[in-house]
Amino acid sequence: MAAASTDLPTIATEGYDVIVIGGGQSALALGYFLRRTALSFCLLDAEASPGGAWQHGWDSLRLFSPPSSSGIAGWPMPASGPGYPHRDAVVDYLRQYEQRYALPVQRPVRVEQVQHREDGFLLTADDGRTWRARAVISATGTWRHPVVPTYPGCDLFGGVQLHSSRYQSPLPFVGRRVAVVGGGNSGAQIHAELSTRAESHWITQAPPRFLPDDVDGHVLFERATARWRALQAGEDAPPAAGGLGDIVMVDSLRDARERGVLHSLPMFAALTPTGAHWADGRDIAFDAIVWCTGFQPALQHLAALQGLDDQGRVPVNGTAAIGVPGLWLVGYGEWTGMASATLIGVTRSARSTVAEVEAFLQHTTHD
Ligand code: FAD
Repeated sequence: MAAASTDLPTIATEGYDVIVIGGGQSALALGYFLRRTALSFCLLDAEASPGGAWQHGWDSLRLFSPPSSSGIAGWPMPASGPGYPHRDAVVDYLRQYEQRYALPVQRPVRVEQVQHREDGFLLTADDGRTWRARAVISATGTWRHPVVPTYPGCDLFGGVQLHSSRYQSPLPFVGRRVAVVGGGNSGAQIHAELSTRAESHWITQAPPRFLPDDVDGHVLFERATARWRALQAGEDAPPAAGGLGDIVMVDSLRDARERGVLHSLPMFAALTPTGAHWADGRDIAFDAIVWCTGFQPALQHLAALQGLDDQGRVPVNGTAAIGVPGLWLVGYGEWTGMASATLIGVTRSARSTVAEVEAFLQHTTHD
């Protein structure tokens, strides 16, 4: 019997010029531009399959923009039947996109830590595998970092509580009394859906802001671009006309408005074992609460490298991390670039970031 080998097999550490952490739309858009350079790169994605967070959206989720204004760099999203594209059409598009451009995605790989080294970065996955890179671009989105606020009585409430990122369909709630908390697109769409099968109470901190029926994601992006161009040119920019927090009147919301249910209650003062209590003395009983209270950037893998601020962010200049040369962040929303957390908006960020990375690596080569 062969003597047991004493030297443990060392896990090979692959080295690249650039490693993108993530495998959703932001990472793929970065991959599109990286493959047009001479840089070696790979994408490390925690998901077991393509599509990023889109594969976890609820069953009836649709885009709030037409396919013509929902594609990422290089390949427009194909039409996929009537209405705006369904979640599955987006996942299919991202899967095909990866294949079309033969992007080097390794999955599932969950990067647990990024350490700064003299020659760049050492990335360590949760299974111990390591990678070396001269530059790193984090494109990990927000889905893995849902935010649920605390209210007095949260620990007293005896019903079911889940964040919108875990909501799939109204079926588990048929005939139940449900509180939908949150005044953005998710809250509006989940309340509209639940109100067809359950007693749904929509609860928001402020009155919801509905966009006009003819304003969808495409119009929002056009307006945001006009504003961005004016600001770039140093001109007076038109007021920001709606952002991801303003509610796009998709079909399910127009139907809810017709049914007279598209209105919300103000925030409760506290939760009770059976529901919620308002400052005006009102009490409403619930069996469940769906927290549509948004997300923070999924940046825990960077926490050791660069302290995160109280919104879980890394200080950036554009998409470049201010305190860590060679680190960029893409796709996290307005703080990393106008409309960067949207399909149509992330291409601009990806293009400029890859140009910066290329210049940075050329410069460090000459040193
Ligand atoms: P994600 O899609 O979240 O992809 C990030 C990837 O990184 C994931 O695969 C994740 O597993 C991986 N990852 C995370 N952490 C790690 C780690 N440590 N190591 C390795 N991999 C990691 N945008 C639009 O343009 N139109 C819309 O209609 C629209 N509707 C939306 C509806 C909802 C309910 C939500 C929440 C968002 C919506 N958005 C919409 C915004 C945006 O398009 C999505 O949030 C999109 O998923 C962002 O893509 P991303 O690639 O930046 O992040």
